[in-house]
Amino acid sequence: GEYEEKIDYVFKVVVIGDSAVGKTQILSRFAKNEFCFDSKSTIGVEFQTRTVTINTKVIKAQIWDTAGQERYRAVTSAYYRGALGAMLVYDITKRQSFDHVARWVEELRAHADSSIVIMLVGNKADLVDLRMVPTEDAVEFAEDQGLCFSETSALSGDNVESAFLKLLEEIHRVV
Ligand code: GDP
Ligand code: MG
Repeated sequence: GEYEEKIDYVFKVVVIGDSAVGKTQILSRFAKNEFCFDSKSTIGVEFQTRTVTINTKVIKAQIWDTAGQERYRAVTSAYYRGALGAMLVYDITKRQSFDHVARWVEELRAHADSSIVIMLVGNKADLVDLRMVPTEDAVEFAEDQGLCFSETSALSGDNVESAFLKLLEEIHRVV
């Protein structure tokens, strides 16, 4: 339709990270402004879209969810094909999910385009009393690896929008 014709770019973004860190919830927060309290670990949706305007350009973000393939090395290279951006999510209350971030970066370096923009996201920032990953550790890792970084809460919605917009802006800068 008329609206579709106004789209300047379609950007494929993949969401990755360990199971249960909140990938699906971050995505539904951004795409539909929803948080689902009784979501099962997998929702069978492959991707969701949201259209935003950045620097007068209309950008359709097509954001892919792993749908339960997040066991180490189980995500196929088809998932990464054509991706311009990646949201790499860990849970600030689960140290192991942060320790695995380096593996996920390796996966991206192995399977995704070398120019992929990566946003490291520490999710569940609402669970302040359960924090196991200091913000500084993540900032240091992100600076080392040249990643963008944000802490979010899919539950409250804090920083979800800004993290996605920052990622899309960075992609727009490099395409
Ligand atoms: P995925 O396996 O990475 O897709 O994780 P889900 O999106 O399915 O979320 C896993 C669990 O964490 C679910 O019980 C969610 O309700 C919960 N969850 C997700 N995001 C947040 C958040 O920001 N804060 C809190 N407190 N819980 C969250
Ligand atoms: Mg999921």
